[in-house]
Amino acid sequence: HLPIHGVSPERLDAFKDRESARFARARPKTRRLLDQGAQAWLGGVPMHWMRDWPSPFPLVVKRAQKARLTDADGFEIDDFCLGDTGSMFGHAPAPVARAIRRQARCGLTYMLPSKAALRAGRLLCERFGPLVWQIATTASDANRNALRVARAVTGRRKVLVFNGCYHGTLQDTMVALEGGRTVARPGLVGQVFDIAAEAVCVEFNDLGAVEAALASGEVAAVLTEPVMTNSCMVLPAPGFHRGLKSLTQRYGTLLIIDETHTQSSGLGGYTRVHGLSPDLFVVGKCVAGGVATAVWGMTEAVAEAFTAYDAARPSGHSGMGTTLSGNPLQFAALEATLAEVMTPEAYAAMEAGAGRLARGLSGVIAHHALPWHVARVGARVEFICAPGPLRNGADAAAAHAPQLEAALHLGLLNRGCLIAPFHNMMLVSPVTRQRQIDRLIAGFDEILSELTA
Ligand code: PMP
Repeated sequence: HLPIHGVSPERLDAFKDRESARFARARPKTRRLLDQGAQAWLGGVPMHWMRDWPSPFPLVVKRAQKARLTDADGFEIDDFCLGDTGSMFGHAPAPVARAIRRQARCGLTYMLPSKAALRAGRLLCERFGPLVWQIATTASDANRNALRVARAVTGRRKVLVFNGCYHGTLQDTMVALEGGRTVARPGLVGQVFDIAAEAVCVEFNDLGAVEAALASGEVAAVLTEPVMTNSCMVLPAPGFHRGLKSLTQRYGTLLIIDETHTQSSGLGGYTRVHGLSPDLFVVGKCVAGGVATAVWGMTEAVAEAFTAYDAARPSGHSGMGTTLSGNPLQFAALEATLAEVMTPEAYAAMEAGAGRLARGLSGVIAHHALPWHVARVGARVEFICAPGPLRNGADAAAAHAPQLEAALHLGLLNRGCLIAPFHNMMLVSPVTRQRQIDRLIAGFDEILSELTA
């Protein structure tokens, strides 16, 4: 049999079996808890993504502190998944926990602004730039709303996204590029609308394809992450963002930058660190320290155009907003995070730790002479089981090695390190200790020794 990304399939299968048995053997309490309580949930889990972990059954978490989880069997696990970015600043940071306790005495939802809301708005401008803001509960919703506004003010139908992107569950972006055509992604549940009619999908880093699509005059917005982080990580080529901005300006298309993951880059996200100038800006997940919150902002010019549009539209449902969005708990957590958690010092610690992790993993890959590489945007590090750098979503899809990655994830979990499922992403929080990073590097080395020996 041919090696899978440099590893023999027989050895991989044997490793996966060994590690699955080891995980199950070590967790009798977890198994008992699941036997008693999981049947009430569809597929045995309260949210179906929780089936996507590589272990034979999910961990049940007892508590999480700083960058460490304790599971129901008492294992202490170094958490590099950090809720897939929701806890990127560490679990329940002290200022956020205090703000939650304070707010809990004053009510949890009113559908009216609080004083903290007014302070948080000013802090958003300080951290991310002088935009005009709205709050939502998920980044999916924030993107959905930003796209509605872009369609409203341009009067155009289509959204341009990059092949391999992920922006949440808004169906408009669930397209792929296949044989040069935009198609709906396979696997969408209950999908009956023709998404491909309202979207254009092109490859990241391909300004020629972007221009060809925008020249049609039908594209309301380009929606993109600054770095593609949801397939294997794809970095922008030099000049790509400058070119993208000037093309959107030339063709009257709005640029929506989704910083939900790339806020790992530094204070103000990749946008501020690299001087991008989006028309609309979205950030979710950890922006309120782990309390379900996303915010989206627009430039003065977009806000003015939208205000005029809004005044002229017929009264009735806007299609934006949800009842619990803008609740005072979100604002309390948002203010505490922006003021006390998302600080230059926190980012400096994340940057140093992630640099150490990336160097360590690269060293291990080189030592085992595997054709793999490591990519990084600030606190976000990924090992990719293929040579790099990757240029676009097609490269990323080819680099993805699901069986091998699942075995590596499970092996790491058995060695006390949790990394995000779906991809090989690791986050370094400001409270991640050096010895946690070193344990992950050592675990990775031990696994590669077993897989390649
Ligand atoms: N944007 C990006 C770039 C994301 O990675 C994600 C989630 N992985 C989302 C938006 C959606 O976030 P949520 O699931 O919190 O709605």
